[in-house]
Order: sequence, then structure tokens, then C-alpha cells
Amino acid sequence: MDVFQLRDRVLKGGRITRDESLELFTYEGPDLVDLFAAANRIRHHFRGNRVTFCSIVNAKSGRCAEDCVFCAQSSRYSTGIQEYPLLDEAAILAEARKAAELGSGCFGVVAAWRGLSKGRVLDQVCSVLRKIREAGVLHPDASLGIIEDPEVAKALAEAGLHEYNHNLETSRRFFPNICTTHGYDDRLRTIRYLRAEGIHICSGGIFGLGETIEDRVDMLFELRNLEVETVPINFLNPIAGTPMGNIRKLSPLECLRALAVARFVLPDRDIKTAGGREVCLRDLQSMMFFAGASSTMLGNYLTTLGRTAALDLQMVDDLGLMPAEKGAFAAY
Ligand code: SF4
Repeated sequence: MDVFQLRDRVLKGGRITRDESLELFTYEGPDLVDLFAAANRIRHHFRGNRVTFCSIVNAKSGRCAEDCVFCAQSSRYSTGIQEYPLLDEAAILAEARKAAELGSGCFGVVAAWRGLSKGRVLDQVCSVLRKIREAGVLHPDASLGIIEDPEVAKALAEAGLHEYNHNLETSRRFFPNICTTHGYDDRLRTIRYLRAEGIHICSGGIFGLGETIEDRVDMLFELRNLEVETVPINFLNPIAGTPMGNIRKLSPLECLRALAVARFVLPDRDIKTAGGREVCLRDLQSMMFFAGASSTMLGNYLTTLGRTAALDLQMVDDLGLMPAEKGAFAAY
């Protein structure tokens, strides 16, 4: 395989096939860095030298009735995390202010539950999203689980929600291995309802769950078909107490390879590194942008700590990249 020929096809607007993507996952030479260089060229062509940042608040932690095997917040597993009901508006707005000060362009309100229905909690969430929107500094985002009623998506859109995070997590084939309390189609339907309301979709997944490279490629192709705007890539950070607690972490090069293939498959999308970045990439974190990522999270994750925003901003500056202007998003 000539990785530079493949790169040139993508630069000209062409697409790579599933078989070619599988081959990239096992690409060995002449030099693995060629794969990263090609992905970096694609990133630069479609995304320029700007890096987007987002931050999140875990607005409701733990006691989730679902059984996602990687998740510290499922009530099925004993993980010792801090559990609390939905934070009040003032606490969420305080976190939004902190995110804006750090330099994030968007701020996600995240809750650990199966999903959201019409009623008091939806009203509370919409109220806080409106206030974030009115502050005019950050794009309000949310990750609130499965939506079974299109009216919920409509209410979120009316509250000014910019983007909704709802990961596919893995391939349709592998999904039953990681969750049995809801299905892949629940996730696709949620994305469909949100899309119908004009809300941007942030959807990606987790690598390192024991899935095959076929599963990784199939998830990336599903995301390509869905035309999601943002693609968060998480690397499993095994949490003690979950069924995944003892699984082997991906190596830094496996993570970079996954980012590079994602860039080939989704050349113009905002590919974001998320959970597990620090523990899996370790000293190779700064290579993530030169392997294809165009975005990352600033600050802490849901139940694990991130490193300081100052270190990440310094890393971006050291690489000759620039933070995207606050609130600036690529136009799709
Ligand atoms: S639905 Fe979300 S919060 Fe609940 S167990 Fe699954 S990943 Fe965790």
C-alpha cells in the first residue's frame, strides 16, 4: 500500500474503502511515521492549523441503570465514584464560566442516566442551556443519553443547544458485548431525532474494549454515513470494579494509528481526543495532532482527571498550532 497515494486521493475529495482502512490499521512501513504524516497533511488541508477545545461537567453522577461495561457510573458495578443527583443551575453555570476562562469553545452538560423524557428534568436542563447560550461565550452542548421522543430533541433545539454528544461506542456487531440494556438502533434513532432539529452531532466511540480492527473500521464508516460533525475518540481507561477493569490498555502507537485511520475515513470532520488520552498516549500525547486529531478536551473527564489546561494550551502552541477562536466552529 502506498499511503501517500491514498492521501492524495483523499486530498482531492476521494474516499478510502473499508479494505483500505483495514490495511491502514496494520500498516507497517516503510515507516509508521509515514501514516501519521499523511494523516497530518489531510488534517491540515481540511482543518487548517486550528485546534478546537471543549469542556464538560458531569452534571449528574453515577447510579445509571444501564450496564455499559466500561462505565464507572453504572449502578451494576462498584467503582467508588462520587454519586450525586442533577447539580443545580448555579453550579453548572459556574463550571461553564470556568470552561470559558480555560479557553474552551463549547461546554457539555453530561448526565448519567438512560435518557431524557419530557418533564421537570428536561425543563431544568433547557433552562441551564438557555443561560449558557445567553452568556454568549460558549456553545452549549449536552450528552443526556437516549432520546425516545422527538419532542425532547425539539425542546433542546429551542433552548439553543448547539451540539449533542451521543457516541456509537463501537460497531453494531460488537455493541452487544458492551451493553445489553439498550441497542445500537436506540442510539441511531437518537441521532436522527437530533439531526432533524438541526442540532450538530458529536458522535464517536471507545477504542480498546476488546474489539477487532474490523469493528473499529465499521464504526468509523457508520460515522461517515451519519455525517456527524464531531468525532470524539476515547481510549479505554480501565476502571477497577467494571467488567473491563483488567483489560490491557492500548499502546500509544495503537492510539495514534486509530486517530490516523479516523482522519483518512473522516477527512474534514473535527476529530477529538477524549477520555483515556493521558493514560494511553502518555508521552506521545503531543503527536495526536500530527496523527490526525484536530480537537481535544480541556480539563477533567466524567469520573477521571485530565491534566491542566495550561499544559494542553502550551502543547498546542509548541506544535505551531493555534486554539480556534472561542466559540468558533467549522461551517458545515
Ligand atoms: S448509559 Fe452512559 S452513564 Fe449509563 S452506564 Fe452507559 S455510558 Fe454509563
